[in-house]
Amino acid sequence: MSSSPIELVIASTNVHKVREFRNMLKPLGRFDILSLCDFPNYVPPEETGKTFEENASLKADHAAKTLGRWVIADDSGLVVPALNGAPGVYSARYAGNDATDVENRKKLLDEMQHLMDDDRQAFFECVIALASPQGIKKCVRGTCEGLLLAKERGGSGFGYDPLFVKHGYSKTFAEIGESVKNRISHRRKALDKILPSLESLMET
Ligand code: IMP
Repeated sequence: MSSSPIELVIASTNVHKVREFRNMLKPLGRFDILSLCDFPNYVPPEETGKTFEENASLKADHAAKTLGRWVIADDSGLVVPALNGAPGVYSARYAGNDATDVENRKKLLDEMQHLMDDDRQAFFECVIALASPQGIKKCVRGTCEGLLLAKERGGSGFGYDPLFVKHGYSKTFAEIGESVKNRISHRRKALDKILPSLESLMET
């Protein structure tokens, strides 16, 4: 087993996502975690995929080949079946290409105005792709099912967190605190599935 840390790049500049990954990967040790914030000249590929899998894979593959390092990329979003799956892969740009989280949530609230209580079911989906400079090694998926509120609650988290209450909980993802969210989220579930690959990477 090698003793020097392995560099692993999280292919994102989303500080919230990167912090969640850092905290969830901490117990593994032995990884030197970087993010795209450490590579200011890196130009990410356009997210042209129609699915989370396609986007996660293209982000991981491009970053790993360009940066010559191991990379994990997550493509994630909120899926509302009653809105035909929207915002889905367009979650980050639901209200427009440069939309803020506040604008995206406002658009979602507007679109949900006509929905009955039963139609407020939604789930977060996260697909994580692991790539080496030679290409994609693994791609896994995690989901987290819950309900969307008609009004925001809570000040932590990001994206649609203030509107989402996981089934079995009463607080939104923006109220429960990051350490609880990191134990139960879609990202956690996907990460758990990729851990064996990361562990075997540490052993090589
Ligand atoms: P991506 O960076 O292209 O994968 O877009 C992810 C988008 O999905 C974010 O900008 C959020 O709008 C939404 N999203 C993904 N994961 C979460 C989460 O854990 N909480 C809230 N919103 C999320």
